[in-house]
Amino acid sequence: MDNIFESFHPLVKHKLTKLRDKTTKPKKFRELVRELGALLTYEATADLATRSIPVETPLTTTQGSYLSEKIGLVPILRAGLGMVEGVWELMPSAEVWHIGLYRDERTLKPVAYYNRLPIAPTVAVCLILDPMLATGGSAVATVDILKNWGVEKIKFVGLIAAPEGIATLHNAHPDVPIHIAAVDDHLNENGYIVPGLGDAGDRQFGT
Ligand code: URA
Repeated sequence: MDNIFESFHPLVKHKLTKLRDKTTKPKKFRELVRELGALLTYEATADLATRSIPVETPLTTTQGSYLSEKIGLVPILRAGLGMVEGVWELMPSAEVWHIGLYRDERTLKPVAYYNRLPIAPTVAVCLILDPMLATGGSAVATVDILKNWGVEKIKFVGLIAAPEGIATLHNAHPDVPIHIAAVDDHLNENGYIVPGLGDAGDRQFGT
């Protein structure tokens, strides 16, 4: 499958191992989610557009470059919130847009309960942030919403994916690159990724 990018960076693998460890406490867990969010985003944004701009150094003027596209961060609630801080430190002028989804018990389809996007898109690139790409249902629904909004470039940035989640997102939106720290074995009957790390929301928020 193309457009799937697993990070093989040693720092990413090291921090991911600590994240998986069941003895890692919420404070450390949040720190790791933040750091991994930044490291994965660093890799995911290697192709962002830039424009050339002159800059005066203390010695002379030289040609530099600035990011030329407005970036939006879209965390999938609630576990995606923990990734925002790390990414925002790298790109402080990014806009953060929240979209809340829940799964309808009857149809099993994601339903948006919170969406305050303005009519016209305000960003050119969106990074969807969610530590766990499990069934892929929320990711597909979020991409649907962002495409309807008019965003042209969308990327998914996550920490652990199940093969099922990758297939669902990739089949629905093959144009959306998936950047992930690890692709795990399978989803269990309760919807948890195995080996995974448990519930990413509970482990961050101590619930
Ligand atoms: N969401 C989680 O937090 N963990 C999983 O394993 C799957 C979905």
